[in-house]
Amino acid sequence: MTKKAAEPNRNKPDTAPLNTTIVACGFETDIETPVLRWDQAGGLVCPNRRGRESLNHHKKELNEAPTCAPSHYKISNPTAAYEELKQTVYQFILHYDVCYTSRHCHEVLQNSSFKGSHFYLDLDGTLYQTCDLYWKTNTAPADDKLGNERAVHVEMANLSWQALSAESSLYHLKQDAYVLGKKGWKLRLPASRRSQLLQKSYQPVVARAFGERGYFSRRINGRQVRMWDYTEAQYQTLIRLCRGINRLLPRVQLKVPVDPESGRTPLDRLKNFAQFEGVLGHAHVQAGTTEGITCKYDPGSAFNWGRLRRALGRQSSR
Ligand SMILES: [Zn+2]
Repeated sequence: MTKKAAEPNRNKPDTAPLNTTIVACGFETDIETPVLRWDQAGGLVCPNRRGRESLNHHKKELNEAPTCAPSHYKISNPTAAYEELKQTVYQFILHYDVCYTSRHCHEVLQNSSFKGSHFYLDLDGTLYQTCDLYWKTNTAPADDKLGNERAVHVEMANLSWQALSAESSLYHLKQDAYVLGKKGWKLRLPASRRSQLLQKSYQPVVARAFGERGYFSRRINGRQVRMWDYTEAQYQTLIRLCRGINRLLPRVQLKVPVDPESGRTPLDRLKNFAQFEGVLGHAHVQAGTTEGITCKYDPGSAFNWGRLRRALGRQSSR
């Protein structure tokens, strides 16, 4: 299922316009959807990488801040490193980025001295991989402060409650960011943000809407979270990404949390959040119950956990 990055992929036609693989320790898997990687033209480089404590194929001084020059981030023995990584990482954590686009999210993370994310998932379904999965990114410390050691992360483009003018403390919107059109609720993208999309003419319409108001509203870790849904393209890429991560890192099982009584995915932080092996939301691992850790609500009230649960439960290889 995996192959060395250095080997040519003979199944891919020469005319393939974009890369479709994700990579861990140089081992690749094809997720059959466009992926802009940090090591390729047009890619975005994670501004802040760290070494994972339990891995042994990098310089240990990379485990903690400050961020070093890119040339320091070398994996000395990729094959041995990959075996260690497969034992170490067992969670894939989903986030909203509170941004218009993935490049917008990247701008925000570049302004931080420690934050990063392995993946960004843009409105049009384009995936960015910003560094090899060997590295740790500080995306979700979790309530035990060990969350990033055991996880890989994706930041999905969505403004969350900042899309509502009444709650837009960050962007001070004069009107809601979504408007109801012929095709459904659509995100109004400022021209400067639209130009950041890979597919410039993409229409960012929500995958599903709630009633006449469009946005969903559910309580998560004590806060009423109001937000519009992600796009259909984002769900399709996310499902492929989950399968790809599972192929590369099999301890990240193709499952999400399920409440045995309701049969639904809970939204609040889980009791056993540190042990769960699979796909989780940031809110599932971080309610801010520890000193210095903030309460989180992502991927939010609109995220369709049922769809992801059903998709991952299917036997299909994709
Ligand atoms: Zn988050």
